[in-house]
Amino acid sequence: MKLEPLIDTFGRVHNNLRISVTDRCNLRCVYCMPEDVVFMDRHALLTFEEITRFVRMVTPLGIDKVRLTGGEPLMRRDLPDLVAMLVAIPGIKDVGLTTNGLLLAEQAQPLWQAGLRRMNVSLDTLDVHRFRELTRRDGLNKVVEGILAAKRAGFDPVKVNAVVIRGTNDDDVVPLARFAREHRLEMRFIEYMPIGAEAWEREKVFFAHEILDQIETQVGPLVPSEDYDPRAPAMEFQYADGLARVGIIASVSRPFCRSCNRIRLTAEGKLRNCLFAHDEVDLKALLRGNASEEEIRDLVRRNVAEKWEGHEINSARFVKPLRTMHQIGG
Ligand code: SAM
Repeated sequence: MKLEPLIDTFGRVHNNLRISVTDRCNLRCVYCMPEDVVFMDRHALLTFEEITRFVRMVTPLGIDKVRLTGGEPLMRRDLPDLVAMLVAIPGIKDVGLTTNGLLLAEQAQPLWQAGLRRMNVSLDTLDVHRFRELTRRDGLNKVVEGILAAKRAGFDPVKVNAVVIRGTNDDDVVPLARFAREHRLEMRFIEYMPIGAEAWEREKVFFAHEILDQIETQVGPLVPSEDYDPRAPAMEFQYADGLARVGIIASVSRPFCRSCNRIRLTAEGKLRNCLFAHDEVDLKALLRGNASEEEIRDLVRRNVAEKWEGHEINSARFVKPLRTMHQIGG
């Protein structure tokens, strides 16, 4: 069954759904969430059956790509079961996961067996002390073990995501890039966005061109990758010798809202049409009530139709969303 695709008033076609499976996290990254936090009640979370039912309903609208996130998605018990359920949905072509990697050494293999094929691990530093400062927890070695376990399990590439904050970890760009190159991982650097718990300052954004400059002068020359897509969120490069790839996600200096194809489902079943949206709509009430599939699809259509042009981080009009990243799903 194919229905009218999810096209908003700016002509953007939506095929990509980010699903947060929990707001809980085993780290407390300073730029993402506060130290003291009240997590959602477990009963508030959508069940695997509810998530799967929803995904089945939206595949006829053109959703063919999903990514699991959180919070820390590996803290949700039996996550490989959800992966297997999603992979089995006709029309779903791609299931990915974004994790902090702390529990990945144990879970990489079961996730691969369940059918997961895309894996992004967040790691902002290779320095033990700085890891503790940034995440307010220990665990650098576990994350590195997790990344290598994912590689051994078959994930290729494993993408490693680092948020770069000026004066905090901008001197980690080169060691991270070298580490990734050595292990044939795809390193992706992300500009620091105003979405976390702490006060964001533009001066703290370490810009894409500065990241590229550091890599090119200290690690190796880069060339745009063959599949370089100027509209995609990540600007993709590879080293001139072809050894590894590097991606830069320049959400602040080069927003990619014009080609945004994403909608988001929060762990407790709210639908958001933008990471920076101020409003969200309650899907859970419909999923748990006796709404018809058509009513639920109408809600998704309306939510996409109302999508704004972009996040306006670079304008005086920008207003930070009330929810922080861990509650929305990064
Ligand atoms: N716990 C998982 C993880 O660490 O990958 C998934 C959720 S986490 C919120 C997803 C991503 O959002 C991480 O790569 C994290 O670094 C990123 N993130 C969180 N706050 C951010 C901010 N203020 N600016 C840029 N990226 C941010």
